[in-house]
Amino acid sequence: MAAFAHVAIDGPAGSGKTTVARALSRRLGILHLDTGAMYRALALAALEGGVPVDDEAAILRLARAKPIDVALDERAPEGFRVRIGEREVGVDLYRNEVSTIVSVVSAYSGVREIMVERQRAIAEGGPVVMAGRDIGTVVMPDAPVKIFLTASLEARVARRLAELAQQGVVVEPGELRAQMAERDHLDVNRAASPLRPAPGSMTIDSTDLSVEQVVERIAQAVEAAAAR
Ligand code: C5P
Repeated sequence: MAAFAHVAIDGPAGSGKTTVARALSRRLGILHLDTGAMYRALALAALEGGVPVDDEAAILRLARAKPIDVALDERAPEGFRVRIGEREVGVDLYRNEVSTIVSVVSAYSGVREIMVERQRAIAEGGPVVMAGRDIGTVVMPDAPVKIFLTASLEARVARRLAELAQQGVVVEPGELRAQMAERDHLDVNRAASPLRPAPGSMTIDSTDLSVEQVVERIAQAVEAAAAR
């Protein structure tokens, strides 16, 4: 296993982490994991099970009763598979109701412990591009390449709107903007593993960059790490 092929990408909602992680993993010939999907799966399980998200103890019980599992799989549409208990879940993870509550669920330290343990096991299994909010700070602090990917809120809202439009989902831009700003606020200000650049990370502001340009910059950082 080449240590330099561990890449941590953190950043706020809509910064392009998922798209960049997927494109970069193809370019490097390794797998990728979007860890947001795991927190989304737990939020979806809470919605489906009628478990109130503000009841921390109940959410933790749910996380233990219906473990969220992920497996890297290049044949899966996303490049990885997510299961709630035995059931595989896909597009439902990105439903609006899930986006609205996921940052409440992910702020619970007990939930984070469970997710981080699984993510670390995956990282130990081999090279991976992992995207999330705490990958460089908590999950893979020793990753030789750590990226903090950001963009203006306007650019992030515009990207998310375009993504949703492609899926045939129409949302009110002002509502989406407010939801993304609220999620950023919760993710940055929570006590457990708040979103912030990891020590030694490289910040990339993708507001005026294409996906290809961002991938190129990270690929260069990976090459530089390999040469060290
Ligand atoms: O990346 P995505 O927008 O799908 O993530 C959904 C939510 O999951 C984030 O807003 C954040 O609350 C949570 N999350 C997290 N830690 C991660 C990945 C996601 O807290 N590593």
